[in-house]
Amino acid sequence: MSSVFARDYAAELPMVDHASGVYIHGADGRAYLDGMGSAGVIGIGHGRTEIYDALASQGSKVSYVYTASFNHPWQESLGRSILSVAPEGMSAVYFVSGGSEANETALKLARQYHVERGQPQRHRMLARWQSYHGVTIATLSLSGRTSWRAPYDPYLLPVLHVAPPYEYRCSYCRDSGGCTMDCVDELERTILLAGPETISCFFAETIVGTTASGLVPKPEYYRRVREICDRYGILFIADEVLMGYGRTGRPFAIDDWGVLPDMITCGKAIGSGYAPLGAVLVNEKVTSVFREGRKRFVHGFTYSGHALSCFVGQQVFDIMQREDLFSRPGVMGAYLHGRLNDLQQRHALIGDVRGRGLYAGVEFVADRGSREPFAPERNFTGRLVAMMRDRGVIVGGGVPGANFGRGGDHIQITPPYIVSEAEIDVIVDALDDVLTLLSEEEAG
Ligand code: PLP
Repeated sequence: MSSVFARDYAAELPMVDHASGVYIHGADGRAYLDGMGSAGVIGIGHGRTEIYDALASQGSKVSYVYTASFNHPWQESLGRSILSVAPEGMSAVYFVSGGSEANETALKLARQYHVERGQPQRHRMLARWQSYHGVTIATLSLSGRTSWRAPYDPYLLPVLHVAPPYEYRCSYCRDSGGCTMDCVDELERTILLAGPETISCFFAETIVGTTASGLVPKPEYYRRVREICDRYGILFIADEVLMGYGRTGRPFAIDDWGVLPDMITCGKAIGSGYAPLGAVLVNEKVTSVFREGRKRFVHGFTYSGHALSCFVGQQVFDIMQREDLFSRPGVMGAYLHGRLNDLQQRHALIGDVRGRGLYAGVEFVADRGSREPFAPERNFTGRLVAMMRDRGVIVGGGVPGANFGRGGDHIQITPPYIVSEAEIDVIVDALDDVLTLLSEEEAG
């Protein structure tokens, strides 16, 4: 019996021995291709010995200082490094230990920004359904992942949710032959109905990840979001915990929209699994209110700006720069998406292939014409993910309930940025094989 309070008592999980490159090696001697980059965390690949070497030689100088009492060089240098690849206008970075902490920090920063500017009535937040922003009560309140919200519903904060840009299943544009951007109009309507003067910020995953597998909005979407937020004095916060830091082939996913958010939140690939690390990038408009007013941000975790995590983050950044890993996912992603699009031609179970760079989402349907999802009891994604694992390939299963509570089967393929074409072939060939078997099972 395990001594760990397990995430999932129902599942028998393999025990890890070691990991290297894109492979995780089990204690049972099996090798698993990490096609989900361990929840989108692993950018630079597993088992990079240069990180362990750097830790041994320099990291041991100091592992921790309380950052309310001491500054340390790794926080300073990593901040500067990240700002050097961030959208112009970002001027400061706040380091935390992960994605939920980054979003929690951003929403508090937004709130205090308004308080400092004499607008304490701005207490509500805006976010979108079918989005994920974290597990703390505040970030779960932002999340539109209904199945995870349900047990905690009475505790959740006042967040107004609007429709995500889910073109494949959008009730606005379903009969219009394409995206009409009505969901952005809904954002403005919701602001006006609730009272713009009560709203602090709008949170959006630049590209929606785990809950709906890769919703990429139209080119003008974030320009309109930015205009609306500016019109009503609302801060726009881009959650790039999953999609940022190279995953889409750009340093930040929002780079493709040419829009400057007020904050960008990061996690996952920024530490690439070598240390728990998250960050909030803050633009000059927000930073200047604190700097010029000589105000302290009333916040701080014991581990904010953790010295060793920042040191590791710097090693990760240097590897990313040296090996062009902020852009490589764009090139490899084109190959991955090309292979998945071909697969879609041959498998009627694939309804939609979407995402960007080395984030590919695949949505499955019982009927391609009507886009009818599988009944949740069929556990289609669960079966698919298990069959892939039996073939030695790990992919991420989408969260049930994505399609407005009607099942919604989808997977995420998010391999490390160092993945090769041959390794992408292994992933897609396994999926091809599994889908052939599943279509026989579904037909029979
Ligand atoms: N935001 C997004 C978009 C995520 O995908 C995640 C995690 O999957 C989080 C926030 C929460 O990050 P963490 O699990 O590091 O707290």
